[in-house]
Amino acid sequence: MGFIIAIDGPAAAGKGTLSRTIADTYGFQHLDTGLTYRATAKALLDLGLPLDDEAVAEKTALAIDLAGLDRSVLARHEIGEAASKIAVMPAVRRALVEAQRAFSRRDPGTVLDGRDIGTVVCPDAAVKLYVTASPEVRARRRYDEIIGNGGTADLAAIFEDVKTRDERDMGRADSPLKPAVDAHLLDTSEMSIEAAFQAAKTIIDAALNRN
Ligand code: C5P
Repeated sequence: MGFIIAIDGPAAAGKGTLSRTIADTYGFQHLDTGLTYRATAKALLDLGLPLDDEAVAEKTALAIDLAGLDRSVLARHEIGEAASKIAVMPAVRRALVEAQRAFSRRDPGTVLDGRDIGTVVCPDAAVKLYVTASPEVRARRRYDEIIGNGGTADLAAIFEDVKTRDERDMGRADSPLKPAVDAHLLDTSEMSIEAAFQAAKTIIDAALNRN
């Protein structure tokens, strides 16, 4: 088994960019676990299947191929919303967590990001980071990203979405979003991507030297 880095945090906290940069720097394989929930949700939406039937959602989750996950296809807002609805179902989580754990064991090491990596998926990860930022900052970043890509957006509506998603992710009974007791907290509200990466790198290098 390789070296596992678990990165958790709420939506739009900057986990994705940070995780990809870390994986590239250390030559590790990266899995954005949010995409597994999104792919399951998209498959249900595409087939016109209900989002509240646990057995149907479980069957769909079991058929997800990790090799075919692509954020550009799964980024849509409705898919994110649907993903956070099916993510409350224990059978869906069991199916996806199984696949995520198998991925985490790949050599030479892996970076997994999501909501429950340090607490549930990889409780023995060598490094755990909990990346967060205030809801205002996260909403603003998402807004700037959409505008930067030439889209249109409503900052107040995005702020409401961020808060709703936080409540659902932190409030669910199975695997709620929370920092693992041994996670390093990284509040990026007033940090650049580069500064957040440097802070993470210091923590990872220290753990690699201990290994
Ligand atoms: O991170 P992303 O926005 O792509 O995740 C979509 C949804 O999938 C989240 O709001 C959350 O409900 C769910 N999720 C989860 N556990 C993970 C990753 C994502 O419950 N490890």
